[in-house]
Amino acid sequence: MAEECIFCKIVRKEVPSQPIYEDHDLIAFPDLHPVAPVHILVVPKEHMQNLNDAGKNDVGILGKMLRLSAKIANEKGVAETGYRVVINNGEDGGQVVPHLHLHLIGGKSLAHQLG
Ligand code: 5GP
Ligand code: ZN
Repeated sequence: MAEECIFCKIVRKEVPSQPIYEDHDLIAFPDLHPVAPVHILVVPKEHMQNLNDAGKNDVGILGKMLRLSAKIANEKGVAETGYRVVINNGEDGGQVVPHLHLHLIGGKSLAHQLG
C-alpha cells in the first residue's frame, strides 16, 4: 500500500469508485474519464508501479486481470463486438497513475487506432 497513491486510496475506500467487481486480489471500477462507452479499470489491490515491478509471484495476478477483463467484457455486452485491453507503462507508455492497472475499452470501433 502506498500512502498517497490514488488507486491504493480507492482500494482502501478512502476515495469512492463504484466498483463493479472486487475480490481479495482485484478491484474493477469505471474510469473517471471514459474514452468509450465501456471503459473499466482492472486494478490489483497490491501496489505495484507497473509491469516492471511484476515478479514471478505476480504471474497469477496478471492472469486474473486478463480473465476478469474477459468476464467483464461479457457482462458489459462487448465480448462479441470486441474490445481492447491496455496496460500503459511509464512515461512513454502514457501511464499517469503509478499503480498497475489494465484498461478494458469497448463499445465502439477502435480498429486502426493504436496510440
Ligand atoms: P493511465 O494513463 O495511468 O494508464 O490511466 C489512468 C486512468 O485512471 C485514466 O484513464 C484516468 O481517467 C483514471 N483515473 C484517474 N484518477 C481516477 C479516479 O480517482 N477514479 C477513477 N475511477 N479513475 C481515475
Ligand atoms: Zn497504489
